[in-house]
Amino acid sequence: MKSGIYIHIPFCARKCRYCDFFSYAADESTKLAYIKALVREIEAYGKIIRKSENKVEISTVYIGGGTPSVVPAEYIDEILRAISLAFCNGEKFQGQEITIEMNPATVTQDKLEKYRESCINRISIGMQSANDKELELLGRLHSYDDFVACYEMVRKTGFRNVNIDVMSALPRQTISSYEDTLQKVIDLDPEHISSYSLIIEQGTPFYGLYGENGSKKSELPDEDTERDMYDLTVEKLAEAGYERYEISNYSKAGMYSRHNTSYWKRTPYHGFGAGASSFWGNKRWKNTSDMKKYLQLDPERLEEIRTEVEDITRMDAMSETVFLGLRMTKGISKKEFFEAFNEDIHAVFGKEIEKHVKAGTMIEEGDRLFLSERGIDVSNYVFADFV
Ligand code: SF4
Repeated sequence: MKSGIYIHIPFCARKCRYCDFFSYAADESTKLAYIKALVREIEAYGKIIRKSENKVEISTVYIGGGTPSVVPAEYIDEILRAISLAFCNGEKFQGQEITIEMNPATVTQDKLEKYRESCINRISIGMQSANDKELELLGRLHSYDDFVACYEMVRKTGFRNVNIDVMSALPRQTISSYEDTLQKVIDLDPEHISSYSLIIEQGTPFYGLYGENGSKKSELPDEDTERDMYDLTVEKLAEAGYERYEISNYSKAGMYSRHNTSYWKRTPYHGFGAGASSFWGNKRWKNTSDMKKYLQLDPERLEEIRTEVEDITRMDAMSETVFLGLRMTKGISKKEFFEAFNEDIHAVFGKEIEKHVKAGTMIEEGDRLFLSERGIDVSNYVFADFV
């Protein structure tokens, strides 16, 4: 069975002010102990998989975080070797998409060369903005010039599949400063661009400033401006030859993220590391985010680090197929739904589909069901009807 692998590296050089991901600044000995625990987890899981009848074929590996580039490149190599031994008989990766996320402030030429030797073939760089004032406000560790230097190093090292992350709806961001960021990204000509709106998460320093009762809430762009920024993204990136294939993701022809697409298509995946989620068989689970507990991981008792183990019912699986599939601009195939569940999608979700087609938020065309532009604007409201 095809599977993706997600590796979580929960370390960052410093916490950004808007971030609620599981990540923190750790000392070198914690990083080393963590990599050792991670390798133990991969090896132990590999043993289980090799004994089971379900053979696993790894299609993608995604090393995310946190900031994976904050640990030495040798640690990343160790992890990839453990994956190869556990799932690919120790053979060199061939044909898999292997991505690593990086923060421009933590990259060196030497690290990039080592990544290539480790078979990494896709780089995802968090740029977020081309405006230094916005970067400072976000608490990012890099300037725009640092980002450009990093991008040039990545290209010089020979990487031909690069994603750049940008953010919109930032405090004090204007349409024109966002347009400038987009233009600068387009000029760099990456294969893939992700653009997400800032979400003010509880528990972050930003929440006190820009959350519900935040003292500086008025500095956030209003809803109409946020929508204009989204429309501008779609328009500018289309003009520059990028296809929007998911609500927030754009790529040159064929250069979509295979790993992220596999989430939206419900391909199984194994997540390794503290806080990583997995989806395999009819179960989902999440590893503990308790670092102390994770570092003590006993390879004979992997179940001890698993939390939030959830059985996926047939109805859950059908719902997920629809609301994850609708994230993609091509939406879902009614035929594929039938092949997966032996049931017509209209027999299960007929009322909901009719409601949204009538409201103009969903389009039914031949075999496909997908969100309209209006539906993308209110996608969370549409998805809620299928949960
Ligand atoms: S670099 Fe990324 S993961 Fe780390 S704190 Fe900033 S936003 Fe969060």
